[in-house]
Amino acid sequence: MVTFLAGGTGTPKLLDGATRVFPAADVSVVANTGDDIELGGHLVCPDVDTVLFAGGGVLDRETWWGIADDTTATHEELGRLADAAGLDRGPRYLDDAAQISGREIARWRRFSGVAEFMEIGDRDRAVHLTRTGLLDEGHTLTEITRTLADAFDLDVDLLPMSDDPVATLVHTAGGETIHFQEYWVDRRGSPTVDDVEFRGSRDAEPTAEVREALADPVVIGPSNPVTSIGPMLALPGFEAALAETPVVAVSPFVGGEVFSGPAAELMAGVGLDPSTAGVADAYPFADAVVLDDDDPTDTDRALAGVHVEYTDTRIDDDDDAERVARACDRALGAVS
Ligand code: GDP
Repeated sequence: MVTFLAGGTGTPKLLDGATRVFPAADVSVVANTGDDIELGGHLVCPDVDTVLFAGGGVLDRETWWGIADDTTATHEELGRLADAAGLDRGPRYLDDAAQISGREIARWRRFSGVAEFMEIGDRDRAVHLTRTGLLDEGHTLTEITRTLADAFDLDVDLLPMSDDPVATLVHTAGGETIHFQEYWVDRRGSPTVDDVEFRGSRDAEPTAEVREALADPVVIGPSNPVTSIGPMLALPGFEAALAETPVVAVSPFVGGEVFSGPAAELMAGVGLDPSTAGVADAYPFADAVVLDDDDPTDTDRALAGVHVEYTDTRIDDDDDAERVARACDRALGAVS
């Protein structure tokens, strides 16, 4: 049995080839839910959905979100209507009272549907409607994710990190507090990050299913340590569970270079070195790290006492993913 911790790009890429190395029936995937938002009344879970769509063979692999070849008729009409009505395109947060009323799981990350600042495809929307409908019928996010995983014929066990609300908020150097999706989707990562907060995390719990999965060896894929893995580590008991089991982490950096996304800026914002060494600092419980062949990190200094495995960590296709998964397997073998 093996458990992967996933954000929305790096680890889903690794999962593409992981089941050639680890039998799918033995694989659990714990997905970040700190990025989730409620948009126009629908709960959108970007990281859960990337794993769902990838496993179901329908993911848009250009963007690593949404369904390939999806149409966007409703999304475009929402924009057109807002423009015609003279309504600002947003992001349009609901007011403070609305942020803490209604569906508990959507606390602190509620946006009105006017103009829909995040692009939601038409087929993609059907997933959010079904998820939200099942929430309103009284099911937990864990149960609903399993139902959706069945619908997409997923062969791994996909688990949201928690059934409780956790909202990833970015505090900017300009003194604003904005949701991660506003920071990344609307502002394209331009505000300088002063700090990152996981609102609700202290009162949230990893689910029983997640706690059980954390008893198995864990692979932290090449995810953003701050906003993809950070929300999980902020849950009570999560880090303690990782300290008790073999953990291998794949670096999302080659030395100080990131493959994609805002990991470097976010790490600098929370006081971590934006590099493989900083990733090691973010994961004090890691027993092994998989580094790129070209990673110049001084492992004796930055990764003392940690098993190091080298491979080409660039993942462009299933064969690349298999190669990195084999390195993870070797690393787990060395530290288990
Ligand atoms: P997010 O939700 O899109 O931020 O997704 P993740 O946290 O799962 O992944 C983002 C991280 O994946 C970034 O820090 C990238 O550097 C890393 N990444 C993307 N592609 C690759 C790759 O091919 N190889 C490795 N090692 N890391 C990658």
